[in-house]
Amino acid sequence: MKAFELENLHKRYGKVVALRGLTVEAPTGAIGLLGPNGAGKTTMIRALLGLITFEEGQGRVLGRDIRRERLAIREIVGFAPEDECLFPGLQGVEFVCYAGELCGMPRKDALRRAHEMLDYVGLGEARYRPVEGYSTGMKQRLKIASALVHDPKLLILDEPTNGMDPEGRREILELARDLSRNKGMSLLFSSHLLPDVEAVCDHVLVMGGGRLLLSGSIAELTRRERIRYVVKVKS
Ligand code: ATP
Repeated sequence: MKAFELENLHKRYGKVVALRGLTVEAPTGAIGLLGPNGAGKTTMIRALLGLITFEEGQGRVLGRDIRRERLAIREIVGFAPEDECLFPGLQGVEFVCYAGELCGMPRKDALRRAHEMLDYVGLGEARYRPVEGYSTGMKQRLKIASALVHDPKLLILDEPTNGMDPEGRREILELARDLSRNKGMSLLFSSHLLPDVEAVCDHVLVMGGGRLLLSGSIAELTRRERIRYVVKVKS
């Protein structure tokens, strides 16, 4: 089964065209999503999650239709957004538990999973501290714990290393690698940084101007880029 497939997606925000007939297919596994600011990465992710409407196009996430099966998609996909989205005043464990309840989990199960996931992301000792006091790296790991609370099959991380110091960045990359290589979870890992994608992913998608520019394994893309470079130098 494919992780997701989109066909001819068009999305505008007023006059701004964010997606221009985006067509893409991604295998399960760890998928990197690269592209500059404004390429349409976040808009594509919102479309996959059924968070936005779009003018044209269709698609599936793990076999579920993005227009008609949005609730089913939310049950099997976890999402750690780029923006902060924290509720000040909540403790770490309350925050993750609340995320579980929003996914429809009974409170008792959500609380048990919240403790497990906080331990998993390395926030066990900070679980009773208010989230507004967390560092940037801790907030990012808190978002990942929340995205994992309902045990999804696909985890979407939108620019998870943005604004991170080298140590925080290393921790996030290690977590992402562990999820994909040891826990068998599929990942969609969006980033500006090729080294981050290379450290985590098997397959890479490159977006620009609301379209897919390239898709392939990391090795294949590096080879293609090298060929293009050689052709340019010789011509
Ligand atoms: P970034 O790395 O900056 O997050 P991105 O590749 O995720 O970039 P998008 O956030 O999908 O790109 O944005 C695509 C285009 O749509 C950009 O021109 C952006 O300014 C515009 N855009 C995105 N969201 C909105 C919105 N809510 N209202 C208006 N324009 C928007």
